[in-house]
Amino acid sequence: MEEYYDRPKDIVRRNSLVAGIRRKGIDDERVLAAISKVPRQLFMPEELHDKAYVDRAFPIGEGQTISQPYTVAYQSELLDVDPGTKVMEIGTGSAYQAAVLAEMGAEIYTIERQKKLYEKVQELAYLKRYENLHFCYGDGFLGWPDHAPYDRILITAAPPEIPFSLVNQLSMRGFMVLPVGKAGFQRMMRITRQADGVLKEEFDLFSFVPMLPGKHQ
Ligand code: SAH
Repeated sequence: MEEYYDRPKDIVRRNSLVAGIRRKGIDDERVLAAISKVPRQLFMPEELHDKAYVDRAFPIGEGQTISQPYTVAYQSELLDVDPGTKVMEIGTGSAYQAAVLAEMGAEIYTIERQKKLYEKVQELAYLKRYENLHFCYGDGFLGWPDHAPYDRILITAAPPEIPFSLVNQLSMRGFMVLPVGKAGFQRMMRITRQADGVLKEEFDLFSFVPMLPGKHQ
């Protein structure tokens, strides 16, 4: 059966979104293929469905946003995942980014501190197809030690400084992709765990909602 999010016009819109992301410099075919498949409208409030393939962040409630598709692509490309790569994501939000990584075949452990957002995502029938997607209501600053070590950590909210305590939950030579900085613009960084410490790399500037401590009811 053709699902309503896989109508010819949805496919055309997703392909044109992917073409735009490609023009902005993303060339990881694994990432682009996943973005061309995941129906972004399902992760957005009904009244925004006609804007689902506009390359922008949108509000999803609780003062939070669904990331801009270009940002999702950028972080996914830096994350360099293959089928089976074990990833912890901090900031489930709408779960769109998590679905893109799950579509790429990665094993995803994603954490959200806002209870309402966590609960909303549990009701999303589309996500039931991914056996490789696991959700947690918790504080990302503590990580998810039960499933550590991870090959990758992805943070989709911005901590003011690098949360070095999470490095312990990375495997050796594993790395963390995250925006770092205060409100406004933050620097995308990649922090790789090495035997003698960490390697820090810096990338472009982005604008994320803040990573906040503790759980929120
Ligand atoms: N990946 C999301 C982006 C959501 S915005 C998407 O694709 O839609 C960032 C999310 O991080 C928000 O939902 C916010 O509540 C959450 N967040 C902020 N601080 C957090 C923390 N300490 N632990 C877990 N989630 C956090």
